[in-house]
Amino acid sequence: MPSSLLDSPIVPTVPFDEDGVHHGFLRLPYSRDDSAWGSVMIPITVIRHGIGPCALLTGGNHGDEYEGPVVLQELALSLSASSITGCIIIVPALNYPAFRAATRTSPLDQGNMNRSFPGRANGTVTEKIADFFTQVLVPKADVVLDFHAGGKTLDFIPLAAVHVLEDKTQQAACVAAMLAFNAPYSMLMLEIDSVGMYDTTVEEQGKVFVSTELGGGGTATARSINIARKGVNNLLKHAGILDGAPELQDTIELEMPDDDCFVFSEHEGLIEPLVDLGGEVEQGEMLARVWPVDRTGVEPVNYRALRSGILTTRHYPGLIKVGDCLAVVSVPVN
Ligand code: ZN
Repeated sequence: MPSSLLDSPIVPTVPFDEDGVHHGFLRLPYSRDDSAWGSVMIPITVIRHGIGPCALLTGGNHGDEYEGPVVLQELALSLSASSITGCIIIVPALNYPAFRAATRTSPLDQGNMNRSFPGRANGTVTEKIADFFTQVLVPKADVVLDFHAGGKTLDFIPLAAVHVLEDKTQQAACVAAMLAFNAPYSMLMLEIDSVGMYDTTVEEQGKVFVSTELGGGGTATARSINIARKGVNNLLKHAGILDGAPELQDTIELEMPDDDCFVFSEHEGLIEPLVDLGGEVEQGEMLARVWPVDRTGVEPVNYRALRSGILTTRHYPGLIKVGDCLAVVSVPVN
């Protein structure tokens, strides 16, 4: 029997079909040396009131990205059932073991949640969580928001993102939701390697899907949290789950048409940024220099933009390794 037909071992401690605010856990049995019949307890809040659309809101898909967990904790605490129409399912830390370890991937099985979908009911802890979302939570949702940032190794201009999809009606609904989220930048992405992504699973189920990249460096800022907070409230208004109209400011629309957006390091060394995030660059313009770490008297290596655009992403730590993503340059649409 394919694993997708197996029942998930995950047991929710909250109801999905009762009105009210329910705080609880997704309990995932995890037998180990320090707890023979132990469990991974993934916090979840389900808020339901009447008949209406359902939003599934997640943070911590990668465990070292923090805007999502912060604003989803706040939302779970502050929303009353009577303030919504429909349903909101909130999971602040999708890869909960990674979130607790402050790492991108799970310390239990090295699972990168966003490369583990659609998951397996009889797989690793990470695959079991992915499978539960694929089989149980995503099918309940009309609109899905997954918060990301750059984590410890990347930093981003604050953006909401959707993918180029074959179904143009679905793509238009995703773009409308992204523009309602109203981050300072809005990105239409052509995904280079979409296999295993939560995004792909959600989109294949025909849902409206928005993700974000709101900063990075393994922390959050007051600014990035404010963008996340406004964005999730706007999206819930756009979906008709919260009353009122989204609060909209200007957003700069961007796209990443091909591989030339990415610059990867072919050297190990000490990185000297020459352009900051949000800066405009011309094709061939220097983005950074990489200095040797083991000697003096040697010229640095120059890294240049492969196309004109806006510096969207940069390597965050001061030292860089061979193969690391050094920069991403994306292209304003208008
Ligand atoms: Zn991420």
